[in-house]
Amino acid sequence: MIHIIGGGLAGSEAAWQSAATGVPATIYEMRPVQKTDVHQTDRLAELVCSNSFRGDKLDNAVGLLKEEMRRLGSLVMQVADRVRVPAGAALAVDRAKFAEGVTEAIEAHPLIQVERGEIARIPASDEMSPLIVATGPLTSERLSAGIAAFVGQDHLAFFDAISPIVLAETIDMSKVFRQSRWDRSLGGGPTESDGDYLNCPLTKDEYLAFHDAIVTAEKAAVHDFDRTKFFEGCLPVEVMAHRGVDTLRFGPMKPAGLTDPRTGRWPYAVVQLRQDTLAGDHYSLVGFQTQLKWGEQARVLRMIPGLEQAEFVRFGMIHRNTYINAPTVLTETWQTRGRSDLFFAGQVSGVEGYVESAASGLIAGRNAARLVLGRPAIAPPRTTAIGALGHYVSHADPRHYDPSNITFGIIPPLASPPRSRQERQLATSRRALADLERWAREADDAIWRAAAAI
Ligand SMILES: Cc1cc2nc3c(=O)[nH]c(=O)nc-3n(C[C@H](O)[C@H](O)[C@H](O)COP(=O)(O)OP(=O)(O)OC[C@H]3O[C@@H](n4cnc5c(N)ncnc54)[C@H](O)[C@@H]3O)c2cc1C
Repeated sequence: MIHIIGGGLAGSEAAWQSAATGVPATIYEMRPVQKTDVHQTDRLAELVCSNSFRGDKLDNAVGLLKEEMRRLGSLVMQVADRVRVPAGAALAVDRAKFAEGVTEAIEAHPLIQVERGEIARIPASDEMSPLIVATGPLTSERLSAGIAAFVGQDHLAFFDAISPIVLAETIDMSKVFRQSRWDRSLGGGPTESDGDYLNCPLTKDEYLAFHDAIVTAEKAAVHDFDRTKFFEGCLPVEVMAHRGVDTLRFGPMKPAGLTDPRTGRWPYAVVQLRQDTLAGDHYSLVGFQTQLKWGEQARVLRMIPGLEQAEFVRFGMIHRNTYINAPTVLTETWQTRGRSDLFFAGQVSGVEGYVESAASGLIAGRNAARLVLGRPAIAPPRTTAIGALGHYVSHADPRHYDPSNITFGIIPPLASPPRSRQERQLATSRRALADLERWAREADDAIWRAAAAI
């Protein structure tokens, strides 16, 4: 049996993978006995912010990672594909149905047990082995202290900020237009020619007034301010706005590829809204994570054309993120260097994002199960996205380690790469999928032989 602390994306995936090889798994999940500041339900794999799993095409690194996970029998991907909502070239899901789907699958599996309650320290090998710590960015304080004691001073905490969500019926549809950037739509809108995003167009004057309001709005107080540190890809809008008057127009408010049907031209700036539920009753503001005070958010965001009367289902906010300095702690199999029956997976292991968290859980779960079956832990080839992720967390420079989303930049280059960027990325993906199939066949054969021998 394997033990997993935390029933989030990583923990659920790890349990599923272990059970798939016939090795039972127990998940220890503290909710609802003990809550986090952000989760709202007692469901496993609850998505705490955006409902997007990001790009879903093979010319995109996270699209490749998802395809690899599908081929490795990922539970997270099976459920995500089943409850997807329209989102252009991205994979977005109905968040309630997603968590429900994962929870039902885990609870119905005869080899998986879920125990509710906090684990307040890292259990020793004679108590729980193998053990996966998958407690996420909001790891409970007591366990965080235990992790800090285990990894030493390299244990870090910092902050992220999240986007607001508005009620669809309060959006003024006469001012917005439905379209996907560059018309890359799944055709999931009300009619076939519709795009997947609602776009709020701003004129130059509207944009300048909006920019001015953002830079002068009041921010919420954040404790531990001296340690506040954000990912470049997840900067609060007000931080971007402070960098220069055009920064937002070249970031989340960029108009490129969005033609306003009323003018036949790209607007000066655009705010995109993405459907957040299957029913289409909630929309999130894409890339609008913020730490402005809630009253200020309502005032400033209602300056956006189409959102003058918007009701906010959830405001943007700032949150804690707990993760280890992975390169000093982990190997590419997600085992700790100091204790080979102890794994870290998910956001706490030093990856960033839903998909990356689930992917690390997938490999950690398989490897923990392999230990039970008397086989050594193994890592997928570095030429795959999932293997590159494990290599990155275990080999990046620990002196300035930053959790990373998957990118093509951490996959080794092709021997003779095509000239065009898109062709190069597609060729990298083709190589990855071929290498993954070969690796998985060999790894699974060995597992089945080991399982049959027990
Ligand atoms: C507010 C916020 C917004 C985010 N937004 C996004 C986003 O929009 N897109 C994105 O890709 N990523 C986002 N992330 C980052 C990250 O991808 C997600 O947090 C993701 O859920 C990580 O998966 P996980 O399995 O590692 O952790 P989680 O999904 O958080 O799962 C960890 C589980 O462990 C439990 N737990 C914690 N401590 C203990 C304990 N001591 N004992 C037992 N159980 C415990 C928790 O209750 C939780 O259920 C966000 C993170 C936060 C905090």
